Amino acid sequence: MMKKLSVIVPCYNEEAVLPAFYDEITQVAAGCSNYEFEFLFVNDGSKDNTQNIVESFAKKDARVKFISFSRNFGKEAGMLAGLEHCTGDFACFIDADLQHSPDLIPEMLKAVDEENYDVAACRRVDRKGEQKFKSMLSGAFYKVVNRISETYIDDGAQDYRIMNRNVIDSILSMQENIRFTKGIFSWVGFNVKWFPHENRERAAGDTKWSVRKLFKYAMDGIIGYTSSPLRIPLYLGFILLLLSGIYALGVVIRLIVAGHVFSLTSGAILFAVMVVGGLILVSLGIVGEYLARIYTEVKDRPKYLIAKTNCDK
Ligand code: UDP
Ligand code: MG
Repeated sequence: MMKKLSVIVPCYNEEAVLPAFYDEITQVAAGCSNYEFEFLFVNDGSKDNTQNIVESFAKKDARVKFISFSRNFGKEAGMLAGLEHCTGDFACFIDADLQHSPDLIPEMLKAVDEENYDVAACRRVDRKGEQKFKSMLSGAFYKVVNRISETYIDDGAQDYRIMNRNVIDSILSMQENIRFTKGIFSWVGFNVKWFPHENRERAAGDTKWSVRKLFKYAMDGIIGYTSSPLRIPLYLGFILLLLSGIYALGVVIRLIVAGHVFSLTSGAILFAVMVVGGLILVSLGIVGEYLARIYTEVKDRPKYLIAKTNCDK
């Protein structure tokens, strides 16, 4: 029996690049003749012609499977749906935009099938072709996250990877609703072989990441993998209590020695009230961020809804 690789491709408005992607990936598959292939396109609520293009592939190629969401649920949901429906011994995540070079697949496949690795993953060697501002933001994000979180999240680690069945099942066992896949990959562990991979330019179309989306992603990454921000209000509270204790002591001493208390200007009082008010609001906000995520998890809504598919699983 030939072993099977499921190639999972999350697509959101990728009509411009899908034909070129399909050409490249099928060429690579033709070069790996001792493996069976499955190409699982997850159409994440695209508003363009993505669905028709994918269905036209499926018509002429029985290896092409698709899952089409009822709306845009995000790449994380797309990757989850791919893992849940794939039938391969191995699964590969790859972007549709050809930024992940498909020609690495044979080598990666060898690592997981012959070299006893559980995962073959790509690590970015540089951030060429990315906006300066975006690189700076994400650099800062990884610094913060790795400082405070118990799970080490690799700056350069990409979603582009091949994993064996054991890893697939481990990832599927994590049924959290707010999915930060980079954190999940690192949390499950296993034996990873890293491949240096230069990010190619997007072949066509536009990136789907706005700064707002990235910020939300970063917050999910921090809050999902550490609860230490919740301790900030506690420490702030202690510091303020200590300061007010010192102040009270000063007042008493001055009252005894000089017979009267300090007189503060109204400016100083206003400043103190505003600082304390600000700290309380920030603390509440931190608690609120966790609370909102608990609320989302408790509601436990489906992570995606399927409008159309040709998968049997
Ligand atoms: N993607 C998706 N749903 C989304 C956003 C993106 O399925 O809501 C897919 C997209 O089609 C692509 C991959 O995720 O295949 C990576 O997206 P993109 O290229 O926009 O991200 P970047 O490479 O700029 O980080
Ligand atoms: Mg891309």
